[in-house]
Amino acid sequence: MLVMPYLILAQKKSDETIMASIYDEALSNSPLYENLRVLCKDIGHRLSGSSGAAAAIEYTRQLMIEYNFDTVYLQSVMVPNWKRGPVEILKITNSKKQGVIDFNALALGNSVGTGPQGILAEIIELKGLSEINEHRDEIAGKIVFFNGPMDPTLIETFSAYGAAVSQRSSGAAHTGPYGAKAIIVRSITQSLDDVPHAGSLRYKAGVKALPAMAISTKDANLLSQLLKDQADLLIYMENYAVILPETQSYNVIGQLNGNLLPNEYIVIGGHLDSWDVGEGAHDDGSGCLQGIEVLRIFKSLNIKPKRTLRAVMWMNEENGGKGGKAYADMSKSRNEYHIAAIESDRGGFVPRGFTSTGSAKQKQQLLKWKTLFEPYGLHDFAQEGGGADISPLSNQGTLLIGLLPDGQRYFRYHHTEEDVFEAVDRRELELGAASIASLVYLLDQYGIANQ
Ligand SMILES: [Zn+2]
Repeated sequence: MLVMPYLILAQKKSDETIMASIYDEALSNSPLYENLRVLCKDIGHRLSGSSGAAAAIEYTRQLMIEYNFDTVYLQSVMVPNWKRGPVEILKITNSKKQGVIDFNALALGNSVGTGPQGILAEIIELKGLSEINEHRDEIAGKIVFFNGPMDPTLIETFSAYGAAVSQRSSGAAHTGPYGAKAIIVRSITQSLDDVPHAGSLRYKAGVKALPAMAISTKDANLLSQLLKDQADLLIYMENYAVILPETQSYNVIGQLNGNLLPNEYIVIGGHLDSWDVGEGAHDDGSGCLQGIEVLRIFKSLNIKPKRTLRAVMWMNEENGGKGGKAYADMSKSRNEYHIAAIESDRGGFVPRGFTSTGSAKQKQQLLKWKTLFEPYGLHDFAQEGGGADISPLSNQGTLLIGLLPDGQRYFRYHHTEEDVFEAVDRRELELGAASIASLVYLLDQYGIANQ
């Protein structure tokens, strides 16, 4: 029988058809949710340097070997090794209205502890770093209470977070020079609840390292209210957080080799470390396992990539960013050309689009594919952004992309004991993986301009 050439040509599947098969695979045959369950429930939280981090490295390595990726390996990274102490006390000792009030508080990551002698001091409340200068003569000998709320009126919650988080990350460094004794931070969340949120701080060289702890938004409101009635309120802080010497850890890398342009790379992933409360389900077990799932989908559908696809689980995003830096350094020293890097680190929520950081030309190219994603509910391609772990790749001409899920609930769970497996919805997580896989497919098929 004669086969006409145009019939053979017609067999090349359209982008729409391939994307449909990617979504079908992710929504009907995916082990993604079960993989997240294992990471969260069998391993649990995994701060850099912890036994959980070591177990998660081995689990994701084995998972990618089991899926028969072409290459699976570890990249050595030295990471900070901060440990929370066994006892964390933060209490008002002399409230005229309520006597002693115990707060449920968490030491901030990278913070020093108070030791057994503790710190007892009066409090000065500030709404943000911008108020320090005005009150600088009242800070000496006091505990500075940063109580600036996340702005609830901003629809983009990540913008509200960005505006408030400097209190946590830099409050100690900025008030140390004025003689502050310690720092208390209102949790960076728009939720009003009893849950304190962890997170890291950075000290400044030459400035005394102050112990710092976070309290819940409800406790922050209570403390603020009591201070209005009683200015000589005393707070006692005691904790045993320690900063141990840097320790050995790893980024976990799996790849499918490109069959046409193997020296061009598309990297996908998230960070494997998580805070030492909760299970790091949204932040960022979801992103890590979505990265692995993208490559699994390619294999399962027998889509042979032209370029090399890499799933990377970066280590130490939360309190140092060492994994992301080490990965970019490695890629530079090997002269690898990363055309695009996609990070999923905004939770396993229903995908709404992609953020991007790159040249106008690169962004235009990305925007051309928007209509392909609209049937799947992704419509927001306009926002700037990439991800903390991929940002060190930016000076290599790489287009940086972030999965943009619905962000309304992320900061309810972020860095808390409530960021557990049960907080992630199976279908939403799978839709995110399918969306990333579809974009990887398009990037691989058509490439993208270098700057
Ligand atoms: Zn994260």
